[in-house]
Amino acid sequence: MIQINKIYINGEFVTPHGTETFDLIDPVTNLKTGEVILGDEEDTRNVIAAAKEAFKTFSKTTKEERITFLKKLHTAVSRREAELVSVMVNEYGGTLQFCKMSVQNAISAFTTTIEILQSFSFEQAVGHSKVRFEPLGIAGIITPWNASNSFICNKLATAIAAGCTTVIKPSEMSAQQTRLIAECIHEAGLPKGVVNIVNGLGNVVGAEITSHPDIAKISFTGSTITGKTIARGAVDTMKRVTLELGGKSPNIILEDADFGTAIPMAVFGAYMNNGQACIAPTRLLVPQSRLAEVNELAKQTVQQVKVGHPGDETTHIGPMVSARQYERVQNYIRLGQEEGATLLAGGEGKPDGLEEGNFVKATLFTNVRNDMHIAQEEIFGPVLSIIPYQNEEEAISIANDTTYGLAAYISSSDVKHAEQVASRIDAGRVCINGFSHDPQAPFGGFKQSGIGREYGIFGLQAYLEPKAILS
Ligand code: NAD
Repeated sequence: MIQINKIYINGEFVTPHGTETFDLIDPVTNLKTGEVILGDEEDTRNVIAAAKEAFKTFSKTTKEERITFLKKLHTAVSRREAELVSVMVNEYGGTLQFCKMSVQNAISAFTTTIEILQSFSFEQAVGHSKVRFEPLGIAGIITPWNASNSFICNKLATAIAAGCTTVIKPSEMSAQQTRLIAECIHEAGLPKGVVNIVNGLGNVVGAEITSHPDIAKISFTGSTITGKTIARGAVDTMKRVTLELGGKSPNIILEDADFGTAIPMAVFGAYMNNGQACIAPTRLLVPQSRLAEVNELAKQTVQQVKVGHPGDETTHIGPMVSARQYERVQNYIRLGQEEGATLLAGGEGKPDGLEEGNFVKATLFTNVRNDMHIAQEEIFGPVLSIIPYQNEEEAISIANDTTYGLAAYISSSDVKHAEQVASRIDAGRVCINGFSHDPQAPFGGFKQSGIGREYGIFGLQAYLEPKAILS
């Protein structure tokens, strides 16, 4: 049995004051594999005190010193790459392919941040003033389970670049991955108290971080509902907040797109990270006149999708993270049918031979109306909704008819025209003809998908307070 019984505070692994435990469950078998001892409010206050003390000197470090720390972190995390991938696959059931990419993303966070830091000036001339960019203070970093290390490393790298100290609360379901990352951070030998990590529940440790007066900023990635709770809790002490929340991203296939490429890509894209991705293109918007062709192409693609053991190189969809998440997805599949959508592939129940784990069939709905629950709500499972549109105007209007606005996708053979359509889409990131990622480009949501931006210069500025000096 795995025992995770330490928190990381002031450069040491210590036994928490909290005594409650959380069971670690293998999503492939649903058997208990271990437990984690959860920190409590007192542990949280202790880690915040350590970060506060460390801020006194860390905030005075030079850019060059912080670049050295980022290089050390890069080396330490790179050294454990294979282990990180394997723990990630086993812990929440992400596929090998996805977990490799996610760990790569975690590692490259340090190098990308170094590049940004090198070109950033912490003192700039604006008008007839000097503007100094000062570190905000202690950053509270709260992360979800679905790409845990990547979120932790990206947020941590930016906070360090800015000169902030950190208190990290990962998802309780990511305790094994976080322990490895904590070991990497320890090996990197940063000054004591700059990085502190406490396992614990959201409504205990997360709530304490959110309300504590010594925390200057919250960087949160997770669901919109939790993001709202955090925003409410943070306002009393006027914390700066960056909220990276949920999504229900449209994928518009324009009339002139290459359907033979765009539709298979759309299906595989919707199932990325077992369908548990905030940016997954879960609403596929296609011309009504081509619906039959799209249905056929999408059905053929699903036949190639392999649901199976996440550690198998050929698997496209592993299990849902928990039995609870499995049930949630099943409820949506039932609801879609009750609402009158046409089930094209997949459906309720587990695939044959995979009855023990939290496996969901690769599911496709067509003739979906955008006002159905399956088109409006984040399912977080491998369920794709095909929504027909009459003309481009209607496609844009359907794409924007959502409370979310994280990502959007457009396929067209005319990139210039696709860019014009992109300018009318309410989303923080619009990808044309693919699912590219640019770590220098801002990432974040319009509307209820969040507040603020991460990545690049935009992410760095979110950990800094500009001060104008006029003389
Ligand atoms: P979640 O909101 O349930 O939990 C996220 C984190 O918040 C966890 O660490 C949790 O313990 C903590 N938390 C819960 N209640 C809290 C509270 N009251 N105060 C403070 N912290 C609290 O999300 P999840 O289920 O772990 O992750 C899935 C969600 O994350 C999805 O909605 C997905 O879209 C979203 N997500 C968004 C992005 C993005 O970049 N926009 C990326 C990945 C995931």
